[in-house]
Amino acid sequence: MEGTTLTIQVPSQFFYEWIEEHYVDVLKLAIKTVMGANGRLEYAVVVDRGNSQNQPYVVSFPQGTKAGKKLKEKQPVAAGDNFDHSPFDLPSLNAETTLQSNLIETHTFANFIEGDCNRLARSAGYAVANKPGITSFNPLLIYGGVGLGKTHLVQAIGNEIKNNLEDKFVLYVSSEKFVNQFLDAIKDGNVKPFTNFYMQVDVLIIDDIQFFAGKGRTQEMFFHIFNHLHQNKKQIVMTSDCAPKDLMGLEERLLSRFKWGLTTDLQMPDFETRVAIIKRKMQSEGISIPEDVIEYLAYTVDTNVRELEGVMISLIAHASLNRVDIDLSLAKTIMKNIVKDIEAEVGIDFIQKTCADYYDIKLEDLKAKTRKKEIVTARQVAMYFAKEFTNHSLKSIGYHFGGRDHSTVIHAVQTVNDLMETDNSFKAAIIELRKKFKMKSY
Ligand code: ADP
Ligand code: MG
Repeated sequence: MEGTTLTIQVPSQFFYEWIEEHYVDVLKLAIKTVMGANGRLEYAVVVDRGNSQNQPYVVSFPQGTKAGKKLKEKQPVAAGDNFDHSPFDLPSLNAETTLQSNLIETHTFANFIEGDCNRLARSAGYAVANKPGITSFNPLLIYGGVGLGKTHLVQAIGNEIKNNLEDKFVLYVSSEKFVNQFLDAIKDGNVKPFTNFYMQVDVLIIDDIQFFAGKGRTQEMFFHIFNHLHQNKKQIVMTSDCAPKDLMGLEERLLSRFKWGLTTDLQMPDFETRVAIIKRKMQSEGISIPEDVIEYLAYTVDTNVRELEGVMISLIAHASLNRVDIDLSLAKTIMKNIVKDIEAEVGIDFIQKTCADYYDIKLEDLKAKTRKKEIVTARQVAMYFAKEFTNHSLKSIGYHFGGRDHSTVIHAVQTVNDLMETDNSFKAAIIELRKKFKMKSY
């Protein structure tokens, strides 16, 4: 800390972006509280990769300070900051438009990994980006749970348009900011500048519209702006955290406008897509990590992409701070600290549950007396894996399967081995199940 400037040194741009994205509000508040209105936040990205050409770069807070202006155009500017100066400072579109767009440059299509989970949304977004306002995807509404890439994708649309069509005025704004600006305008007793500003936008990207819920006046204003833009063939792109039909507290007339265009969702990426996302991120960081670590991460973090990135950040941070290589055991340690409910090892319970789920039978049936064929198979498979993955004795395994004899377990293992030789689809099932346990038992 020097004077009123707090500098956070980070090992790469990834960290800077991540901190900005997740903690900028907390940091701003802390800085304001401790240092007052003149407080500034800077980041120094210090890259240490052997031939270190340390190039710290600086992003400043608060808004529009001298240092901020010194940033080269190509450098990313944090989304959180730019729009703090009120849009009413913008009587005409000038050289500062780059800053005003509120786009993070690294949120591009190239960095947005494609998978089944996002194919439609991505290609619709791409179409819109190449012909904003002209396609039938107007408005484009992308919805999905937290951390699944909504903001990234709509920012990619913005960036793509800015790259291809320089004269278009693209504006990204969070719904929260929109609401606050509107309320400020009301407080000032003059909403005209607010309306005028939004009506001159060529591409309006408005994030997290679920935030409009229950805010009648804002919705009315947005409805106005929406209609004006739409009539003038300006592109509108929106995101929300749920499907329009579940957007409680949004007026019907607004929802019905959304149907004019395209609504599409983002799902959690599947395993392969998660692997690709990890590889991409690590590659952009200039870091290489072993394949088994990648698979382990992709397998274990199945909640959302943001969490996946959080784990990657911790992993990189631990490895660089402690000057150790990234390997499986480090990944496991990190994961245990972060993801509380991950089991340390594969236990009989887990095996039984997994097999019961896989064969779609009740868990109790594995321990019951029943001799129905599907149940017997599932039971034998579970015993087989209990033998392979746990340290339980045959006797103990038998005990956990409804008090069966150790010879039953031996027979189960034998049967599974035999079936694998003769039945290919059975064998495929075993391989698939083994993969699940392997990942868990790393
Ligand atoms: P949301 O807005 O839906 O909460 P974000 O767009 O903020 O999610 O995404 C969370 C993080 O995950 C971002 O850092 C983003 O870059 C990353 N991300 C999400 N989906 C993908 C993807 N398909 N490819 C690459 N990165 C992704
Ligand atoms: Mg978002």
